[in-house]
Amino acid sequence: METEALLKVTDLHVEFHKRKSSVYAVNGVSFEVYKGETFGIVGESGCGKSMTCKAVLGLLKSPGKVTEGKILFENKDLLAMSPKELNRVRGHELGMIFQEPMTALNPLLKIKSQIFDALDPAVYKTKQQKYDRALEMMKLVGIPSPEVRLEEYPHQFSGGMRQRVMIAIALCSGLKMVIADEPTTALDVTIQDQILKLINSLKEQMNMSVILITHDLGVVAQMCDRVAVMYAGMIMEMTDVVSLFYHPLHPYTTALMGTLPSAQQVGRELNAIVGIPPSLTERIEGCPFAPRCAWASEICRKQCPRLTQKEPGHFVRCHLDNQESGQNGGWDNGE
Ligand code: SF4
Repeated sequence: METEALLKVTDLHVEFHKRKSSVYAVNGVSFEVYKGETFGIVGESGCGKSMTCKAVLGLLKSPGKVTEGKILFENKDLLAMSPKELNRVRGHELGMIFQEPMTALNPLLKIKSQIFDALDPAVYKTKQQKYDRALEMMKLVGIPSPEVRLEEYPHQFSGGMRQRVMIAIALCSGLKMVIADEPTTALDVTIQDQILKLINSLKEQMNMSVILITHDLGVVAQMCDRVAVMYAGMIMEMTDVVSLFYHPLHPYTTALMGTLPSAQQVGRELNAIVGIPPSLTERIEGCPFAPRCAWASEICRKQCPRLTQKEPGHFVRCHLDNQESGQNGGWDNGE
């Protein structure tokens, strides 16, 4: 894996304002994704992980908009691009695999036409070139009898096969980075594993970077090199996957780990984090996790901590000193 940043997101804010209500969905998110790595963004529903990636791709729906921040892809400022330029980058350098392939595929068009539409016309000029590329991609994603299936419609495919088609469409122009938003949530467990392995092997073959959005820590462990844990529109902890699982430093991450089922729990209720995530309809003054955190103190309720590097490559947003909690490994709040 190279250590050159392909994507650099700095202090990203996404807000939704209607006449009578506002939602502060993403609140100062910063991260980098390096060439060839799989970067996971994990968190509960509504934590801002999908909104962050939609902002990167320029796919926020009105009234959602980026109100602050910078998004550089290969040092090109995506927020400063015209819709035409952004479309070009989005289709051919930076792509997305959606959670539910049936909603992303056009039910009225043959699979062949949908792959043709996704191909860069500057590279694939003739019908034969397009057909050859479509066939190659169908083979690459493991769809049997690709010549026959190219002539079929989405409803003739199973859920797993539709997700393979979506991956073929997303990757057919030779992307540099793909954002996969919960790509296996809508699939059976056995198919989930096949799709994750497929994404991994295509990433290797095509030397791509992947951003994987998920609520599933098992998927993170299986797929990711580095991970950001999001809560209330902020990154709470960001580090490599081994440190996250063996040496988590943030109380929210520790609480999330505690919700993972273990063999000892067979027949017993699963653990859950007490309380609910905060409403994002108002700006939160202190640490957004304070109402659910066993370590919350006065300062936590008054002042939101900054994301700070506690160990090399390990960033944490917390006021806590490990000596207070006795659970973490040797850091103070660094501010
Ligand atoms: Fe808990 Fe305070 Fe750390 Fe927030 S800043 S996670 S409330 S200890």
